[in-house]
Order: sequence, then structure tokens, then C-alpha cells
Amino acid sequence: MSQQVGSVGAPAIALSGIHKHYRTGKLDVHALAGVDLTIATGELVAVMGPSGSGKTTLMEIMGCLSRPSQGDYLLNGIPVDGVEPDALADLRGSEIGFIFQAFNLLPRLTVVENVALPLLYARVPRRTRRERAMAALARVGIDHRAEHRPKEISGGERQRVAIARALVNDPSLILGDEPTGNLDTERGQEILEILEDVNADGATVVVVTHDPTIASHAPRQIKIRDGVIENDSGSRQ
Ligand code: ADP
Ligand code: MG
Repeated sequence: MSQQVGSVGAPAIALSGIHKHYRTGKLDVHALAGVDLTIATGELVAVMGPSGSGKTTLMEIMGCLSRPSQGDYLLNGIPVDGVEPDALADLRGSEIGFIFQAFNLLPRLTVVENVALPLLYARVPRRTRRERAMAALARVGIDHRAEHRPKEISGGERQRVAIARALVNDPSLILGDEPTGNLDTERGQEILEILEDVNADGATVVVVTHDPTIASHAPRQIKIRDGVIENDSGSRQ
């Protein structure tokens, strides 16, 4: 689809006046209360903020997993609001790699089958799927675990598998929602190094982290509080 090409020179992410309300019964949670944020292609950004401040909500909107209640989102210059659900799923599949905090690996599938799953959805032929999944596993240094099930490997290894799955489609944007959250600082640091490599290869990377040591490695840091950006160290590009 030609619309996936986006506008030349457009920022990877341009959010303006973003609000998100969750309505459950009579309760209205104002999870995002006016977020304006521009992230250039090729940036590496760390997002920090207390629990409940809206980080996951923001990541889900950037990842096109959820739509804002109000405001505009341009992804590579494309107004996401105008994209039909099917086309949005395609756009997400081709442009975005999402790393979930809880890994979200399927327990019955092997490591390599888990990583190949996005390629199945993208209708890539079987043999190519396996080759690309193995290459993604090698990139994060976990290809020797290809035939294991997720429960047979450690938490740090599972997180690498989740990253390999996010990388397998060669997305232009990688979003990590606390990908180091369940790991000690040293293991977390290794995960960040992988994301730094991916960023050096040209991908835009946005990563939520609780760990100030890990965040300090990112050239740009954003702090969120009560659904608004409290502090932005700014783009260095
Ligand atoms: P963080 O990731 O920073 O912990 P979240 O984005 O998950 O914050 O949550 C922001 C606020 O929105 C919290 O008050 C949370 O309880 C609420 N929230 C998040 N998801 C939902 C949902 N699906 N339904 C209702 N409230 C939600
Ligand atoms: Mg969260």
C-alpha cells in the first residue's frame, strides 16, 4: 500500500493534543491528559514515570494498539485516525515491533515458532519464515534456544525472544513497554544494548523503563506524570 511509505522527512511519531479516557461504568479515568510529542526517525527515547502515569497507554497509542479519545497521531506522516482497521493491522505489522512487559510468548510454540508468528500473519512463505526467525534470534544472541519452549528458558532469555519477535519484520519503529522490568540491572543493560544496536541500524526506538541507570543511556529522556509530559530532555538531533 502506497500510504505506508509515509511522507519523506516526516517525524516517525507526531502526537498532538492526545487524550485518552477509559470509561468503566460510571468511572472515567483520564489516562492521558494532553500529550504533545514529536520523535524524529532514528531517535532512541527512554520514557519514565510512576506506575499509573499513562506510560502503557501512550505506548499502545504509538503502537496503534489503541486509538486516542482525542488528538492527532501521525505515524511516519500518516494520520493514523484515517486508516481503516485492516490497513492499520497491516501498517502495524510492517512498521512496528512491540515488546510487551509480560513477553506474551505462546507456551505451546517453540522459541523459533514464536518469533516466526508475525511473519505468518504477514503471509510470508514457511521456509523464509524460519530463516528470518533464526536470523532475528541470532541478532539477539539466543538462536541456540530455538527449539526450546518458553518455559524451558530464563526470564532474560524470554525477553530476548520477545525482542527477536519484535524485530523479525524489520520494523522502522520499536516500542518496548518495560522490556527490562523483570530483569536485574545487568540483564536489563544487555537488553538496552540490543536496542541500541537496533537503533544504530536505523530504527526509531522508544522504551519505557523504571531503571534510571538504563534510562541514562538513552540520548533523550521523557518523564510522564498524571497523563502529561512533565519533562522532556529534548531531541539531540
Ligand atoms: P502506567 O503504564 O504508567 O503504569 P497505564 O497507562 O497502564 O499507566 O495506566 C494509566 C491509568 O489508566 C491508570 O490509572 C490505569 O489504572 C488506567 N487504565 C489503564 N488501562 C485501563 C483500562 N483498560 N481500563 C480502565 N482503566 C485503565
Ligand atoms: Mg505500564
